[in-house]
Amino acid sequence: MSRALLILLLLLGSLGRAQTVCIDPGHPSEVGEGTRGKRITEMKAAWKVALLLKAKLEAKGVKVVLTKQTEKQYVKNRDRAATANKANADLMVRLHCDSAGGSGFATYYPAKQGTAQGRTGPSDEVLAMSRAAAKVFHAKLAAGLKGALRNNGLKTDMQTKVGAQNGGALIGSIFSEVPVVLVEMCVLTNDSDDRFMSSAEGQDRFAQALCDATLAAIKK
Ligand SMILES: [Zn+2]
Repeated sequence: MSRALLILLLLLGSLGRAQTVCIDPGHPSEVGEGTRGKRITEMKAAWKVALLLKAKLEAKGVKVVLTKQTEKQYVKNRDRAATANKANADLMVRLHCDSAGGSGFATYYPAKQGTAQGRTGPSDEVLAMSRAAAKVFHAKLAAGLKGALRNNGLKTDMQTKVGAQNGGALIGSIFSEVPVVLVEMCVLTNDSDDRFMSSAEGQDRFAQALCDATLAAIKK
């Protein structure tokens, strides 16, 4: 084989390495079954959007792993992180819906280590990679959802109840060895958000915005 051909093959090999994304449809976990709206549960919304996102990413040549295989499968948050770690994912995208006041979506990332279940994490490297990914990710997500849902901005794990309890990071972030973001897709106790998220059009629009956000965040 000529040297030129060998170099070409090596180049094609590196170009051809598929990127991997881990999609984590939230709940049921040790945190519970999640919230619900009048029309759809958080568990179902996250599952439906996850499957749509998986198909869209795969159509773009991205390898996808899911943290659970059926909607109601119970998986602990540390095991969800383990799936992303094992796949050496370029990004872990965790999908949830909020409850209580307000409306709209937000992206969360770990900005500080936390401690839970005997472990302190994530590493400084994962914190830095998560922050960089989250910035690009949230900007694209917001652009894709403009006019459909309220943008509550980019936030840190510390701004969640569980993250604050752990001293800075969510359990899934503490155990993550890959960049991780968590999306609160909407506020299901808000009637208009619940209507959006329970419709096929709303789910597809959200999944498309997530797909564009993910592709932008993992771009080399
Ligand atoms: Zn949740």
